[in-house]
Amino acid sequence: MSDCIFCKIIAGEIPSRKVYEDEDVYAFHDIHPFARVHFMIIPKLHIASLADAQPAHQALLGKMLLLAPRLAKEQGLDSGFKTLINTGRGGGQEVFHIHIHVFGGGDPVRG
Ligand code: AMP
Ligand code: ZN
Repeated sequence: MSDCIFCKIIAGEIPSRKVYEDEDVYAFHDIHPFARVHFMIIPKLHIASLADAQPAHQALLGKMLLLAPRLAKEQGLDSGFKTLINTGRGGGQEVFHIHIHVFGGGDPVRG
């Protein structure tokens, strides 16, 4: 997807603060963090939103979810963290490349 900012981040065309990368997945810090630690886990495959995910993406989505606790711990969130997937305009999604927000270490209500 040539006009997708997260695809451009994966391609290195837009800079990001990388947290993790493998052949399927990329993770990077959110540019507007709403907690002391706030990063996003995205697939390298362009999937617009959770509502666009298909059964063929099941293993990829599972891999992303299982990475969350590992990366959260590596980022210093030892006592727990929050996850968030905004889906669709009505769900507050602004970037239409599926992403899991992982955050914590800040305000106890907001994360
Ligand atoms: P959402 O509202 O769930 O679509 O979240 C999109 C997130 O992407 C927001 O929290 C933004 O702060 C974040 N974001 C947008 N552009 C960038 C960027 N270039 N680098 C890092 N995070 C970004
Ligand atoms: Zn994309």
